[in-house]
Amino acid sequence: MKVDEKLTKNFFKLSEKSHIEIEQSLCASCDPKVCIWVCPAGLYSITEDGRTVVEYSGCLECGTCFIACPKGAIKWEHPVGGFGVQYRYG
Ligand code: SF4
Repeated sequence: MKVDEKLTKNFFKLSEKSHIEIEQSLCASCDPKVCIWVCPAGLYSITEDGRTVVEYSGCLECGTCFIACPKGAIKWEHPVGGFGVQYRYG
């Protein structure tokens, strides 16, 4: 089974509260916005008014965005207990 196929088997138990927060005042001066490119799940995007947003519900909990952000604009924690991704194939 290929990696892409394995990822489609993951289960996500969603918390109502995002475990990822973006400090827009810090993010605004970042160019290029590396979070767009480094997230393996492609969860980051830019809104029409220029804000960076993340669709936390599909987060793979790799922590890459937190490490890669050069502005320290991303506050990242694991989802609260019992929520988040459940890998089916490692
Ligand atoms: Fe994407 Fe990984 Fe950050 Fe989740 S932790 S939003 S999967 S880069």
